[in-house]
Amino acid sequence: MSIKIIKAAAIFLEGKLVKNLAIAVNMHTGNIEKIDAEEKLGKEYNDALKEDWGGLVIVPGSINAHNHSFQSLLRGIAADRPFLEWRDNSLYKFSPRMRLQDIYTGALFAFTEMLKCGATTVADFFYLHQFGSESDEAVIQAAKDCGIRLVLARTMYDWQGAPSGYVEDVQTAVNRTESLMKKYTGGMVKVLPAPHSLHAASPEMIKAGYHLAQKYNSPYHIHVAEEMFEVEQVKKEHNGMTPLRYLDYLGVVDAHMSIIHGVWLNEDEVKIMGQKGAHLIYCPSSNMFLADGITNIPAYMAAAVPIALGSDGACGNNRISVFEEMRMVSILQKAETCNALCVNFHDAFKMGTENGGTVLDLPVGKITVGCKADFVGISVQDFSMQPLTKKGQQFLPNLVYSMQPTAIKRVAVNGKTTVMQGKLVNIAEERILEEIGKTMEHLEAV
Ligand SMILES: [Zn+2]
Repeated sequence: MSIKIIKAAAIFLEGKLVKNLAIAVNMHTGNIEKIDAEEKLGKEYNDALKEDWGGLVIVPGSINAHNHSFQSLLRGIAADRPFLEWRDNSLYKFSPRMRLQDIYTGALFAFTEMLKCGATTVADFFYLHQFGSESDEAVIQAAKDCGIRLVLARTMYDWQGAPSGYVEDVQTAVNRTESLMKKYTGGMVKVLPAPHSLHAASPEMIKAGYHLAQKYNSPYHIHVAEEMFEVEQVKKEHNGMTPLRYLDYLGVVDAHMSIIHGVWLNEDEVKIMGQKGAHLIYCPSSNMFLADGITNIPAYMAAAVPIALGSDGACGNNRISVFEEMRMVSILQKAETCNALCVNFHDAFKMGTENGGTVLDLPVGKITVGCKADFVGISVQDFSMQPLTKKGQQFLPNLVYSMQPTAIKRVAVNGKTTVMQGKLVNIAEERILEEIGKTMEHLEAV
């Protein structure tokens, strides 16, 4: 068994800063094997590799439960437009022009920027299928090359009004999704079905995605009620049924389901989600940026719906940090409810870490034996993490409310360092910048 022992100034364990402990990682599985005093671990695993994170504090890696990687390339384009206008002038205009190498570059750009912001797992809700499964493989390759843990939420899309590269018939979408699900099991990549939404996937497509999730006992992702227009459209087409009620009528609401956004669900629909064990992936900054509205997070919490966080695509946020989303969920909900207690920093941190693991059904987001060794090293010398007195009670509120990415110095995924001194380890940052430049030249030239 190959073991690495990682030590640091402190480890953030179960809500407290704990000193004089080290973490033994099984480098074969990427799992945390044991947490104990460094000396003890050194004796037990006497041929272990040693890694010293110096003055940093180790916290669990954050989980970005919703992103569209290719959208990083569209950041700054058609900003400040109404949703449908933004969609048509940004996504629909540029994404059909993307070549395979552009899809790869977009993913590499998104994944490496979020690694530098302390995300160790990302769920990429991916729907550019102009190259069939080769498109998916390009995203997977980018994740492998930079070392991030990937959940490919492979999108199933059959609304003909979208660019043709998004659209597949039900059988093709099922075949391609299923073969990827079978191919990627148990490693750094997991694939799950993601019928796009009620406005972009037919009932047959949604049911097919749900059945795949059932067959492989995996979660499935779907955008629900991001914009008010979807509620109106569903009501009009389905005898006044609201989106979640209609999905329930289709028989697809249960513990396999993770909805993205859920801005315009009413409280009864949220209760149904709680009763049936469904999950919410919440993207507060994106909902603000795209003027979607404000999800009723206290209602979801009261209904015991597990809530994870996502950055959403980087052209609709426009940052790509889960720590940022932790801050946003808390302060936005405080502003909405005029209740400072409605989402506290403990809740927000849990949503960005542990709950991401629950929602994606992965052993991540916690520093505990058996979980993956996905860590972020925080410098408490960074001004944004100060002050920090001996009792350390400011650590978590500072991490959630004041920390800037400059405090994120080191990141490891599956026990392997991917960011050191704030810089990428596996890939030269200059090379990524060069590739982004080439892709943008191509997109603007066509
Ligand atoms: Zn989305």
